[in-house]
Amino acid sequence: MRQSLTGSPEYIALRRTLATQRATLVNQAAGVTTARLAHDTAQTGLTAAVTADGTSRTRLAISIEALTSAKNTRTVVLQQRPRKEAAVTRAQAAVTAAAKTVTADRAVARQSAALLRTALGTALATTGDLDTATTAWQTTSDRLRVNQQKLVALDTSAETRAQAAAISGTVVNEIRTGFATTDTTTVYGITVHKSVAFAFKRMLDDAKSDGVVLSGGGFRTRQRQIELRKINGCPDIYTAPPSSCRVPTAIPGRSLHEIGLAVDMTSGGSTLTSGSAGFKWLSAHADEYGYENLPSEPWHWSITGS
Ligand SMILES: [Zn+2]
Repeated sequence: MRQSLTGSPEYIALRRTLATQRATLVNQAAGVTTARLAHDTAQTGLTAAVTADGTSRTRLAISIEALTSAKNTRTVVLQQRPRKEAAVTRAQAAVTAAAKTVTADRAVARQSAALLRTALGTALATTGDLDTATTAWQTTSDRLRVNQQKLVALDTSAETRAQAAAISGTVVNEIRTGFATTDTTTVYGITVHKSVAFAFKRMLDDAKSDGVVLSGGGFRTRQRQIELRKINGCPDIYTAPPSSCRVPTAIPGRSLHEIGLAVDMTSGGSTLTSGSAGFKWLSAHADEYGYENLPSEPWHWSITGS
């Protein structure tokens, strides 16, 4: 009741948008983390590839120099007179060996150059991905902040909330005074007061569209309340406080169930517990439809929270 009096459709829509944006932001933050990891890994790979490329280039330069030197030696040896065949053979063997080394080093240098190109490509791509992920996160974050400011502007003051709470108390008293069973109607098999039927139906429809199918027990007669007081072992039917019963049960004449303004919610045939998906959904959204939870009973939702 409080929120249905204070929350404008714009406020409610904005709250929903914010919830969606918060979820998006969480996903996008995870995306940034993943992209940063990939980026860091690629940078490490790039550094390693640059080093490997430099090392293999240096090695190739050295082996080319060694080949030149071996060739020079061979020229000198070939020009010696008298010609020393053993020395010529040695010099030729040195040239062949040096040429082989150059061929091998050149292959390694080509390979490390190719690896460097790949590492560079990966580094560029992951930098791009990180930029994209960061921009997406930043955009949502900015939108979220703007919407949060809008929400604060739309939010009603504590004073209005207090007034609304007082009004819902008055409404309960007025409804109770002239209450008749004909004031109730049925929403998906749950009997509720006609004044809340529309909001209640909308709440169940919206929960369902979010994947949470809710049901429950609403209206009960005073006679049934008396029976429940007995069943739940209240020390005295009419005076013992609800907390003194095995299961908290309101004094007959005081339960909002007796005027169709409270519902004990179930989901999948089970009474809602504080860890259930149904409870979580209602905790996030029920106030948009004028419902509040009685904190000691996760299943009990009413227009005043009592
Ligand atoms: Zn209840």
